[in-house]
Amino acid sequence: MIPKNHPRYQSLVLRDKIVKAHKNGILADSGMIAHGRGEAFDYLIGEVTSAPAKEAIRTAAAALLLADNPVLSVNGNTAALAAEEIVELSRFLEAKIEINLFYRTPKRVENVEKVLKKAGASQIYGTDSDNLKYIEGIESPRATASAEGIFKADVILVPLEDGDRAEILVNSGKTVITVDLNPLSRTSKKSSITIVDNIVRAIPLIKEEVLSLKEKDINSLKNILKSFNNEKNLKESLKIIEIKEL
Ligand code: ATP
Repeated sequence: MIPKNHPRYQSLVLRDKIVKAHKNGILADSGMIAHGRGEAFDYLIGEVTSAPAKEAIRTAAAALLLADNPVLSVNGNTAALAAEEIVELSRFLEAKIEINLFYRTPKRVENVEKVLKKAGASQIYGTDSDNLKYIEGIESPRATASAEGIFKADVILVPLEDGDRAEILVNSGKTVITVDLNPLSRTSKKSSITIVDNIVRAIPLIKEEVLSLKEKDINSLKNILKSFNNEKNLKESLKIIEIKEL
């Protein structure tokens, strides 16, 4: 039991969730390492949602509202930390949910599916490993997608993604929104909209922005997208990490 007054309480709660998810076969070993990398960056940004992250979140909400076929992609870490929030967001957006695992095994897919169902998801794409398609004909496990989900999507939210896959998705013409605490990762640099924030803070904030932008006309939403520059935003996030004093 982690004492609530512990200075790193939130961070330790998340770590605990990750360890449990690993024990329950939701996370691959590398998922734990990926979490550690994210945790270090979160420490450096002060474990709060920064101004550039807020701008990226608003832009992501606009892109998702403008989408014809939005899909929320879920991997082990996302399922471990934000399953309920993802399911809730999918309802507000009428977006599909797809399981997308880098280290894919039928058992892990089944475990992630259970977590999502427990969180309230009814239809989940990407569960049938035999029926995945290859994006742009690239016969790599990094290019797989379900035919009715990511394969068809025009806008995808892919939190905590791998750089190669992010690149394949962007090159196939999709708008790729990622959540990644590391502004230097290949995923952060390749994606169309990168939210440099912890997934546990970012997803509920995307939902809030979706609610606040929902009544806006298409042109206002398009203007939000037009005024966003991912590279500039990443540079602003990097400035926050700059360590000025002990
Ligand atoms: P890339 O191939 O994009 O350079 P990578 O190899 O550094 O990525 P991966 O292990 O593929 O990293 O993906 C994990 C990414 O997710 C890391 O950049 C890490 O900072 C980030 N991350 C981990 N946990 C969280 C979290 N809770 N919220 C947001 N980002 C996270």
